[in-house]
Amino acid sequence: MSEGFYFDGVDEALIRQERDKARKLRKSGWWQKKISGGICYYCGRQFKPKELTMDHLTPLARGGTSNKGNIVASCKECNNRKKQLLPYEWDEYMEVIHRDSKEE
Ligand SMILES: [Zn+2]
Repeated sequence: MSEGFYFDGVDEALIRQERDKARKLRKSGWWQKKISGGICYYCGRQFKPKELTMDHLTPLARGGTSNKGNIVASCKECNNRKKQLLPYEWDEYMEVIHRDSKEE
């Protein structure tokens, strides 16, 4: 029974509510328009719209919300990395990506 269980001060019920909001946003015209350009917010590369995933700039587990201002389109590679890396490692990854794209 994990209903109503609290993890390290993060309110699980609140996270569930924000996830639900994100799920609804994913079906909205706003999101469809956002991914129709096919640009990953992080690496800036071009993808097919269906290859882009929804990502929270501030993760829900760290108090982020599903407001439009906190949601970006991300390619799967960036999304996976963001999940796996520590915040400072992620910053370094972003630096490398943007340095590389400038040299091209
Ligand atoms: Zn990307």
